[in-house]
Amino acid sequence: MKRRLLSVVVPIYFEELLIGELYRRLKGSMEELASRYEYELVFVNDGSTDGSLGLLRDLALEDACVRVVDLSRNFGHQLAITAGTDLACGDAVVVIDGDLQDPPEVIAQMVEKWEEGYDVVYGTRIARDGESPFKLATAKLFYRTLNRLSDLDLPLDTGDFRLMDRAVVDQLVQMREESRYIRGMVTWLGFRQCALPYRRDVRYAGYTKYTLGKMVKLALAGITSFSSKPLALAMYFGLFVAFAAFVYLVWVIITTLTMPETIVPGYASLMVVVLFLGGVQLMSVGILGDYIGRIFYEGKRRPLYVVKERYGFGADSPGEEGCGR
Ligand code: UDP
Ligand code: MG
Repeated sequence: MKRRLLSVVVPIYFEELLIGELYRRLKGSMEELASRYEYELVFVNDGSTDGSLGLLRDLALEDACVRVVDLSRNFGHQLAITAGTDLACGDAVVVIDGDLQDPPEVIAQMVEKWEEGYDVVYGTRIARDGESPFKLATAKLFYRTLNRLSDLDLPLDTGDFRLMDRAVVDQLVQMREESRYIRGMVTWLGFRQCALPYRRDVRYAGYTKYTLGKMVKLALAGITSFSSKPLALAMYFGLFVAFAAFVYLVWVIITTLTMPETIVPGYASLMVVVLFLGGVQLMSVGILGDYIGRIFYEGKRRPLYVVKERYGFGADSPGEEGCGR
């Protein structure tokens, strides 16, 4: 019987310092499974211009299990993962960070769960070593806020480290939305999902490529792709302010009629009201603008990413026939 294929998708952005170690550990973990499965390692170079691509190409030359997808520029973590899952042929596809924060040894446990019949096995972080208090606090706050805003029950403290069955990947590949929050999209898909708790390690080398700007962008994509509640929130806020203004108006009329001597031109209260209302209006327009901006980008229907070159996708590579990549 033909052995089934496991694909491991790894996004890479300026990681030349750790590609050697990454390959060694991934290879080690996959070799443990090699008696039962064939495997391929799909590295996506997300526009790094350091030595990463060269190192990856060398690996593809030496090892028939290695595939390299070179994107034409930096498209960001979520799109790099998309490119990888699009091109992966496995009966199960594992997405893992390239910085060894997600231990490759956990993949074997994910595969076990998959064998038990789960379609999605997502890694939940029980501990995150070596992250800054700022990142820990903002991540925690974000996952909880998003969960409250969204109608979906999004798992907490869960990143993109997960195993997906071919049935799930086939559906995910159909979802071509521009603003991507992949962990949420996989939750939306349903199927049988289960959590696998793991310890998130310290980054092996280099520094985080998720700048504050990229984090904010991902957080906004998460919120606005999975909830329209902020729009309603702006409306509720407007209603509340209008109601408060009405109460204040009544109060002003009453005091003017009953105690006209106390009424002095109220510069302070006027300023407060004007500024507050201005703030609320700007915020509401901003929220509207964000949603409209996303419609604008979706409307273009551009490809999500551009592949410059591919290496290691030879005809003799496992899973090639019938995979259509
Ligand atoms: N990454 C990427 N494109 C980007 C930013 C990051 O492909 O624009 C990759 C990066 O090389 C790493 C993974 O995504 O393999 C996670 O990034 P990082 O470890 O920097 O994020 P953090 O773990 O700090 O959130
Ligand atoms: Mg990391």
